Amino acid sequence: MTATLPTSTSASEVARLRSTFATGRTRDVAWRLAQLEGVERMVAEREDDFAIALAADLGRPRVDAWLADLAPTTAESAFARKHLKRWMRSKRAGLPLSVQPGSARYVYEPLGTVLIIGPWNYPVYLTLTPLVAALAAGNCAVVKPSEHAPAVAALLADLLPRYVDRDAVAVVTGGPEETQDLLAQGLDHAFFTGSPEVGALIMAAAAPTLTPVTLELGGKSPVIVTGDADIAVAAKRIAWTKLMNSGQTCIAPDYVLVEESVRDTLVAGIAEATRELRGGAEDGLRIVNARQAARIAGLLDDHGGRIAYGGAVDVEALTGQPTIVVDPRPDSPLMTEEIFGPILPVLTVEDLDTAIRFVNDRPKPLAVYLFSRSKGVAKRVTAEISSGGTVINHLMFHVLVPQLPFGGVGRSGMGAYHGRWGFETFSHRKSVLTKPTRPDLSLIYPPYTAKAEKLLRRFF
Ligand code: NAD
Repeated sequence: MTATLPTSTSASEVARLRSTFATGRTRDVAWRLAQLEGVERMVAEREDDFAIALAADLGRPRVDAWLADLAPTTAESAFARKHLKRWMRSKRAGLPLSVQPGSARYVYEPLGTVLIIGPWNYPVYLTLTPLVAALAAGNCAVVKPSEHAPAVAALLADLLPRYVDRDAVAVVTGGPEETQDLLAQGLDHAFFTGSPEVGALIMAAAAPTLTPVTLELGGKSPVIVTGDADIAVAAKRIAWTKLMNSGQTCIAPDYVLVEESVRDTLVAGIAEATRELRGGAEDGLRIVNARQAARIAGLLDDHGGRIAYGGAVDVEALTGQPTIVVDPRPDSPLMTEEIFGPILPVLTVEDLDTAIRFVNDRPKPLAVYLFSRSKGVAKRVTAEISSGGTVINHLMFHVLVPQLPFGGVGRSGMGAYHGRWGFETFSHRKSVLTKPTRPDLSLIYPPYTAKAEKLLRRFF
């Protein structure tokens, strides 16, 4: 279904965008605003087409398609449009005594022609939101949607040229080979959303041309639940966010660390909330493809824990039941690999110290969630665990705050976007220093007399 373009086409696409960038028209604020309006208009006018494509690729219900893919894309673009002029303003800076007189400022320059490599799990939102940032910053962009969401990839290839400047945005469909080919051409930035494993390959492919990268990766995001937490609310929120897109969300709760005193209540609560949120349905949730379904089934093979809810994965039908596994072995694949599916391990921990140590002994997660009534506990978790983001008493909502930078740290990624942070990612901050020609103090030029040196030592 994916219309893969031959290699030579992607080279000519990049060349076409480069010549558009060279005209300078993408720097104009009116051009940038028009592109963002185009993205918003496309999403509004083509909501039906996007919903159909998302249902075909991921079995996503219509409301979910709107809620998780379309509405946040529009919100991000509208936010950028509202604030763009302020973001673009040059910023004044102070001068040390040694450089006075003069004036200093920095200006935001677009980078040029950038590459956006999208994942399949929220294939509209996670492909268009980086594009919004790239266009707001005045760049041309090659968009490479995921081949694992082929209906959305084909739709973006069809629609984007109709709604935005077709000489400034190109869609190249295909998989690893096409992505590598694009990277080999040496772009001005590569923005990748996907797994840490592929992120490393992207960084390696970008290295020979010194293409800077932003890597939005994944990992195992823990939820810590302390004995004093509001367990009913915690259970419902954990169940809801885990169910979203069948657990195939980069910031989904991957596993839970809970104090023993509330463990059984929490597990029962998550099971009950899962049942309720699904209207009593017991069947499996849609998994994107057979490879992922087989991988998820494999995670249930040998974990050493107790299945408290669900447990069935049907690889042929591409479905997996929402599943709770209590106390799996920490060294089992279920606890060492990112789950990216509807399975939720719940591990008993002695206390908060043990929970913090458990998380800190592993790669830095994309998100850390905490349920606790104690402000002191929230302070400790925020201060003592490094993660891309932290949410207290809820999950995932930080992704919807354009005022906050969104991105990982360590193995969960490098760089950030959303709102102003996306604009910054796709801009170069150029320092501009302006000096008067007079006075032209001879003191600064050699040869230096003892008196001159003494004076210079005071100023520098
Ligand atoms: P992936 O890493 O398999 O692929 C993502 C993209 O990389 C695709 O466009 C694909 O064509 C391309 N690609 C794959 N192999 C390549 C190679 N060898 N060379 C060049 N390009 C290659 O990721 P995915 O399966 O689409 O998404 C799942 C992962 O993404 C999970 O780890 C998840 O946590 C992470 N993720 C992170 C975020 C975030 O915002 N941080 C969001 C969504 C998903």
